Amino acid sequence: MSVEAHLASYAAHSAQSRGRRFPETASPSRTEFQRDRDRIIHSTAFRRLEYKTQVFVNHEGDLFRTRLTHSIEVAQIARSIARNLRLNEDLVEAISLAHDLGHTPFGHAGQDALNACMKDYGGFEHNLQSLRVVDALEERYGAFDGLNLMFETREGVLKHCSLANAKKLGEIGQRFIDRKQPTLEAQLANLADEIAYNNHDIDDGLRSGLLTTSQLDEIGFYARHRREVETVFPGISGRRAINETVRRMINALIVDLINASETRINEARLKTVDDVRNAPALITFSENMNKEAVLLKRFLHENLYQHYQVNRMTSKARRIVNELFDAFMHEPALLPPDYQVANDHRADRLPVQARHVADYIAGMTDRYAMREHRRLFMVDEI
Ligand code: MG
Repeated sequence: MSVEAHLASYAAHSAQSRGRRFPETASPSRTEFQRDRDRIIHSTAFRRLEYKTQVFVNHEGDLFRTRLTHSIEVAQIARSIARNLRLNEDLVEAISLAHDLGHTPFGHAGQDALNACMKDYGGFEHNLQSLRVVDALEERYGAFDGLNLMFETREGVLKHCSLANAKKLGEIGQRFIDRKQPTLEAQLANLADEIAYNNHDIDDGLRSGLLTTSQLDEIGFYARHRREVETVFPGISGRRAINETVRRMINALIVDLINASETRINEARLKTVDDVRNAPALITFSENMNKEAVLLKRFLHENLYQHYQVNRMTSKARRIVNELFDAFMHEPALLPPDYQVANDHRADRLPVQARHVADYIAGMTDRYAMREHRRLFMVDEI
């Protein structure tokens, strides 16, 4: 019996996949999506996630989330929901672990800066870059560039995409043009991402002292769970109280997502993955929980992501990315040889060079980008 026999008929089954770009012989011991997960874990880009910012820059503290621990939390949340909904855990895990591979150093500040630098050369989108990492940039196999992942994994990695870019991508971009949904596993990984970062940003925000518990008490969703914790454990305080509150919030979001999605899936009378693609988004929170999640996000935007101490770091990050980009574009000879484009008179040399520079910068960890910046701009640094 297939190891995927227990999955719902509308889950993504390896046997019904649209397959790999370069056909490969099936593995005797693993499903195709397990294989994808394993390839992602062994990739260079995955190891770099350890030193890339989520909100706090890597050197700001040892206990804050990095993109690596964030991705592992996303995979954990997504897998437990997938198991309840009889979706493909291996696929959801692969997508979760790969979803941030294309992120620049310094989180969103880095991505926005690089996008601005690239505006005359096609722009820079981190979701598209994640796909570029797994499709082209990883160099691990003799037969092809990239990791040669399954269509459904690649589709899940490409969470968003501008219409202009979707048109250039062929099959993988088609759903953005047709306004169709990806697999339930891809929809799920997306929401697991949201559950993970909303909650760990609260945790990290409190740990850093940039957020206070009294500020958070203004959020009904937090306050309710906090009160519950204080009823169960009278006198509880400090980290223990925060952790008990956050774990309850994560649990409430997961349970709500399972129940609301199950109802919508049943109502849609799905039979196959094609039914999923033609239906509206089915992995969703209930209406009430959605409102709570929106308030939580707004709170984090106003109080954490825009905190003046976070702004100082994002401003520095923007300058570092801008200055690296300008230096490399003006003097490509400063780049490692692999990223230099021969100075012939091809009309497309400049956009090709810019894309190489963007790949080089996007691949940097926070600390590598800072070191590289010092090497280029400080005369006494080698
Ligand atoms: Mg993420």
